[in-house]
Amino acid sequence: PLQTRKLGIALVGLGYYSKNLLAPALQQTQHCRLAGIVTGTPAKADEWMAKYNIPKANVYDYKNFDRIADNPDIDIVYVVLPNSMHTEFVVRAAQAGKHVICEKPLAITEAECDQMINACRKANKQLAVGYRLHYEPFTQEVMRLGQQKVFGAVKFIESSDGFRIGDPSQWRMKKAMAGGGPLMDVGIYAVQGARYVTGEEPISVTAQFSAKTEPQKFKEVEETMSWQFRFPSGAMSNSTTSYTAGVERLYASCEKGWFELSPAFGYGPLKGRTSKGPIEMPVVNHQAAHMDGVSKTLLDGKPLPDHITGEEGKRDVRLLQAIYRAAETGRTINL
Ligand code: NDP
Repeated sequence: PLQTRKLGIALVGLGYYSKNLLAPALQQTQHCRLAGIVTGTPAKADEWMAKYNIPKANVYDYKNFDRIADNPDIDIVYVVLPNSMHTEFVVRAAQAGKHVICEKPLAITEAECDQMINACRKANKQLAVGYRLHYEPFTQEVMRLGQQKVFGAVKFIESSDGFRIGDPSQWRMKKAMAGGGPLMDVGIYAVQGARYVTGEEPISVTAQFSAKTEPQKFKEVEETMSWQFRFPSGAMSNSTTSYTAGVERLYASCEKGWFELSPAFGYGPLKGRTSKGPIEMPVVNHQAAHMDGVSKTLLDGKPLPDHITGEEGKRDVRLLQAIYRAAETGRTINL
């Protein structure tokens, strides 16, 4: 049967990720389209209406956003705001009767995650996290290699993500808006990597902050940190995240071989190899694959796969908080 309906997505917050990644991806999606925008910057509204042929009726600001409830063009609200603003807009979107996609990290605290999950449940709407890698073939392949023990049991993992940050005045460097430093921003990918390669939940964590090599720049948030998870199978993982120097690698050493992705977490193309040779997978647009995957599930009237839901986002937020606690106390935190 012909299935031609595309779900309408409204992007909330027209910053770097919306402008450079999500809007272009929405020009190639099969199951969803860019139908509306929510912005606090009127000049962006004009530019986007012209560029993407968005009618004025589908343009909102942060005050009148709740009127989106009356707009049948919008099926999904995609929250792409600074981390500290995620909770408010996810809750308002759910109360407006829309499905929601929210960028990572889902929120700063577990309590906020609960508010978001509960608001969506109450509205009978689904909540997805912007975990684009779950729809990315190289990532799906290392999930398979690890979880199905293709090289035998995973023994240890190195999973790290960091980069050298530019403008020190941006919200990512403000604790109140970001919730922390590189751990909240890209360390979350390293946490995810260790979890999806093992398919297990960590049972304890130890962690360390680096000394600040650029204290003038890193006034509010950590510059670099490392942590270690122990998993029920006995596997352990080592991770580093940083805003001062780059790393992007997911390596798993197993009983009978190894596999790795590097780069492992960026927008792609990702690249990988195993102890038997290169990993060959189709290269896809991460954002299009993610939004199409979520939209197809919603169009089919099915529940989203557990590993991209609000519950999954909350598991990671809980682990991020435990990593900070471990680094602050110098203690092993049992999970
Ligand atoms: P930007 O700073 O580039 O954009 C954020 C936008 O939010 C702004 O442009 C602005 O849009 C709006 N905004 C509203 N209030 C504020 C405020 N007080 N300060 C700053 N911005 C405000 O951030 P990114 O696009 O890089 O990141 C947004 C979210 O997306 C974050 O949660 C981040 O973690 C996530 N992200 C995810 C990625 C992924 O690969 N999944 C990659 C990059 C980011 P406007 O002018 O329209 O109001």
